[in-house]
Amino acid sequence: MSNVFNWQLGREMEFPYEARFPDEQFAFVFNLNRCIGCQSCTMACKSTWTFNRGQEAMWWNNVETKPYGGYPHHWDVKTLDLLDKANPGGQTWGGTRRDLRAPYGEFKGKTIFEAAKNNISPEGAQKALGYLPTDEEWSAPNRFEDNPAGAEKSRRGQMSFSEGEAAPQHRTWFFYLARLCNHCSYPACLVACPRHAIYKRPEDGIVLVDQERCRGYRKCMEACPYKKTFYRSTTRTSEKCIGCFPRVEGRDPEGRGLPMQTRCMSACVGHIRLQGLVRIEKDGAWKEDRSNPLFYLIHVAKVALPLYPQFGTEPNGYYIPPRWVPRAYLKQMFGPGVDDAIERYALPDRELLAVLQLFGKDPRICFRYEIKEGPKVFETEIRGKKFTLYDDTIIGYSKDGTKILKTRVEEPFHVRPDQHANSI
Ligand code: SF4
Ligand code: SF4
Repeated sequence: MSNVFNWQLGREMEFPYEARFPDEQFAFVFNLNRCIGCQSCTMACKSTWTFNRGQEAMWWNNVETKPYGGYPHHWDVKTLDLLDKANPGGQTWGGTRRDLRAPYGEFKGKTIFEAAKNNISPEGAQKALGYLPTDEEWSAPNRFEDNPAGAEKSRRGQMSFSEGEAAPQHRTWFFYLARLCNHCSYPACLVACPRHAIYKRPEDGIVLVDQERCRGYRKCMEACPYKKTFYRSTTRTSEKCIGCFPRVEGRDPEGRGLPMQTRCMSACVGHIRLQGLVRIEKDGAWKEDRSNPLFYLIHVAKVALPLYPQFGTEPNGYYIPPRWVPRAYLKQMFGPGVDDAIERYALPDRELLAVLQLFGKDPRICFRYEIKEGPKVFETEIRGKKFTLYDDTIIGYSKDGTKILKTRVEEPFHVRPDQHANSI
């Protein structure tokens, strides 16, 4: 047991293992306002890593329709219920401090590690509060696809939208939540493994299962609150997302030696994804790195928030919350930073608008960006506030300084000549 600092919770927490921090950490930001649920990411992953026998129910990347969908079924509601039972009514946030080490205030409740101490099962105490999903819960990975929640209109046969919907929150709503292993800073899968088969790579923080050591006890599956380790019946071992580490290392020939984003990120049709590596301090906090796009989105603009930070694993997947969804639901999922994040995203300033253009533009990892100011395009008012659009140019660089992309805020459009209406 050690005491570690979890910046997403703004406080120290008990962690049943010795914490070790990588030099750089694999991380990603997903813009949920743009996901179209096409599953291109899911299939890019499956066709690369999990197409063999025994891997049929293995979806390292999945996209579920919230609020009803989930893979395995109800994974998040079940873990939230366990936490609520362990600490009834106590899972709250407070604190007024807002800085690099406490951007969302302070979590007053219990993490899955803290709540596990009093939860003695017949097999003894758990390292992390969790449960093992049933076989049925691992079936039908896209159950409830496109099922909305909300007003009576969502009832079967009553899809009458005569009244329409209005911002900021819709009464009838759903959204797509794309997920993969969060390569957590405090991985529950790792602490729960009695064989010490799971490890976190010191160079990039990617969490891997050593297939030689694993004996398939599924303790990782029980402990991971995101349910992102999977059992393979043909090898009797657990497998999980490997963060496409050969690509991140720059060993994919397509990248010509430069670090590349994972397959799921590169294949994203909606351009919702931006994956990268962030520099980490000796105590696990993020190093100030103003020109790294992930650092900017998460710590400066604060538009991207961690998924269920209250679980306590310090996940490295961050989400720009969908604007139209009821705030109470979003706050339970992404913590207290939701209102500010949506406010900034809905009325982006000049720099944020430029950085958002980096998503999906190039499969190589962008370590640093630079903005060249362009002319003013127009000015308007959005909900009573002034908004100005500038046609700035954003340039992205790889780790070694190679320029990898250059794009503008205003996308160029081409008018097709009359005589070639149906050809390019
Ligand atoms: S998401 Fe789950 S499997 Fe991935 S590192 Fe975190 S605890 Fe482990
Ligand atoms: S490829 Fe992108 S847009 Fe399509 S489902 Fe996956 S995350 Fe969403």
